Amino acid sequence: MENQRETVRRREAVRRRALARRRKIRRRRIIFTGVMAGVLAALCLLIKGMLQEPSVDGSVRPVTELGSEGNTAPDRGTIQGLSASDYAKHPDWTEDFLTVNEYSRPGEALPKVKNIFVHYTANINTSAAQNRSYFESLKDTHETSASAHFIIGYDGEIIQCVPLDEIAYAVQTRNYDSVSIECCYRSKDGSFTQETYDSLIGLLQWLMEVYDLDAEDVLRHYDCGGKKCPLYYTEHPEEWEHLKEELQDVS
Ligand SMILES: [Zn+2]
Repeated sequence: MENQRETVRRREAVRRRALARRRKIRRRRIIFTGVMAGVLAALCLLIKGMLQEPSVDGSVRPVTELGSEGNTAPDRGTIQGLSASDYAKHPDWTEDFLTVNEYSRPGEALPKVKNIFVHYTANINTSAAQNRSYFESLKDTHETSASAHFIIGYDGEIIQCVPLDEIAYAVQTRNYDSVSIECCYRSKDGSFTQETYDSLIGLLQWLMEVYDLDAEDVLRHYDCGGKKCPLYYTEHPEEWEHLKEELQDVS
């Protein structure tokens, strides 16, 4: 009888020890899982940070999601951030927006427009369509970050690549408060054809009107950063003054 009780006690003790061991193992597993989850979360954040590659001017620019149409008019009744009546007065252009991508159309909001920058493509005899394709190709080649809101071809045609309520990558320090226009050219001195020039004047006048800007707010890329762009107007500053006078005349 005594022996039987002793056996039962021993078995009970063995059972308790085994139970305690199992609890200890379970606790350790819970702690281990928690630590691993923490490490994984930290790793995910690190990788995410590394994937946001810095762009040409060094700042990190995450790609923001846009709707399938890629047009982010925030309020009803506005088109590309402009009132419907202002927008309706725009000169003829072909709307051919770039695919949202971090190399030429980051899809980030353009909060204000203080200046309009004029550029030349620096690629003689290339058409507006070809230059638009180049901007589009950057999403695959990752060659550089570059784009403009508009490209004017040497026949005077205008292609809109980026909506006016989004930034383009055109003037490194001024992408968040300016609109940029690229001009094609056929002459070695970088001068524009009459057709390009006329379209440029018309587009600039419309932009000046809708953003309430003065001719002095129209700048050469050269005026911000010193790049010889647009070439002809950096080498012929008097012609640039003349262009601005023409803008002023009508406005
Ligand atoms: Zn330029």
